[in-house]
Amino acid sequence: MDGMRTHYASDITPEMDGDTVTVAGWIHETRDLGGICFIVLRDREGFMQITMVKKKTDSALFEKGKRLNRESVILVTGAVAGAKQAPRGYEIIPQSLDVLSESDSPLPMDITGKVGADIDTRLDSRFIDLRRRRMLAIFTVRHHVLKAVRSFLESEGFIEINTPKVVATATEGGTALFPITYFNKEAFLNQSPQLYKQLMMAAGLDRVYEIGAIFRAEEHDTLRHLNEATSIDIEASFMDQLDVMDILERMVHAAYAHVSESCAQQLNDLGVELTIPELPFRRVTYDDALEIALGCGHEIEWGDDFGTAAERAIGNAIGEHYFLVDWPTEIKPYYTQPYDDRPPYSKSFDLMHPRMELASGSQRVHLHDLLRQRIEACGLNPDGFDFYLKAFGYGMPPHAGWGIGAERLVMTMIEIENIRDVVLFPRDRKRLSP
Ligand code: ATP
Ligand code: MG
Repeated sequence: MDGMRTHYASDITPEMDGDTVTVAGWIHETRDLGGICFIVLRDREGFMQITMVKKKTDSALFEKGKRLNRESVILVTGAVAGAKQAPRGYEIIPQSLDVLSESDSPLPMDITGKVGADIDTRLDSRFIDLRRRRMLAIFTVRHHVLKAVRSFLESEGFIEINTPKVVATATEGGTALFPITYFNKEAFLNQSPQLYKQLMMAAGLDRVYEIGAIFRAEEHDTLRHLNEATSIDIEASFMDQLDVMDILERMVHAAYAHVSESCAQQLNDLGVELTIPELPFRRVTYDDALEIALGCGHEIEWGDDFGTAAERAIGNAIGEHYFLVDWPTEIKPYYTQPYDDRPPYSKSFDLMHPRMELASGSQRVHLHDLLRQRIEACGLNPDGFDFYLKAFGYGMPPHAGWGIGAERLVMTMIEIENIRDVVLFPRDRKRLSP
């Protein structure tokens, strides 16, 4: 291994008995039994026991090791010795111990899991909170989800793009945007890459994806909304909504399968038994979902969006991932294609987990005049969309796409209740730091 150390905790085995290794990490705890002192050293890959015996260990080293505060960072060189009672079946008998960074005491929060901390305390000291095995497991799974997503989309011929986050106009009217000062002009943080990924269809990139930040200025106070979230977006030419639904469900399946295969340790740390959802996902029309919601006593009229409670009732009735399809045109954005033969309905879908919405998508309007009409019908001023509409005048292929929230995909997969737990530094109505 490169760097200061030779091995991670997980690289060492009891069979290496007698080998000299250099390990590094945080002092998880020390147990001083008088004549013998144990240091449990923690690195990203696990725990190691450093054993110092008063009679055998150099006395200066013994005294130094004993006195160290928890969470100090040390570098230890020593000999591996098989030890059945130690974590991973080995201990390290130190020859040298360097203190690289001493920790203050007391710690801002407990990380051993013995004392619970509320979410605000944890987020205030997020760097320490993230040292907990549970947190490490969450972000390792998140990494693997995004890795599986990239690899799946690439295998389907998608290329990764990066679109601007500072923009001059809203993607959709109605949604609150964060205004910013851009030199002497007003600008906004983008709420979605929608318009730009559609421009890439006019550019001939054919199949694109982006994993990037989206900003929503809504004053949410829920366990599934953030003001800055990560969206996985695709757009594909010469495809309709059914084609991109097929890609979406196979991508979700691939993410579950990859995590199931690569994250056994993390799933164990989280106490999660992962069930890979079966394909194809059920398709439920808006009209049928409305019946279910009405049957459960929710008062909704045709054309309304389902509120949180109705969404949960429908989710409970179905009990697995499903697509909610054929939404009323009037409640979907202007770029959503209405059915030719029944224009009140649109070629749109949401991907639902029983707990919440995961994704929205549709076939898009690709004809210039219809798009202009739809923008006006949604009460928006087409002049603000010049740069976008222009791309529909010089050869725009039919296309479709979707956006799925990365946090929601991860939190539903590994049964995390609060979305704040699956982002490193969540941004919500009250929190802008750290
Ligand atoms: P919701 O109705 O749940 O607020 P939405 O319909 O407004 O979501 P879309 O604009 O359809 O969201 O965005 C596509 C996906 O991006 C959503 O299905 C969701 O997974 C994710 N997403 C959108 N807004 C947020 C947010 N504020 N926080 C976290 N994820 C979000
Ligand atoms: Mg949506």
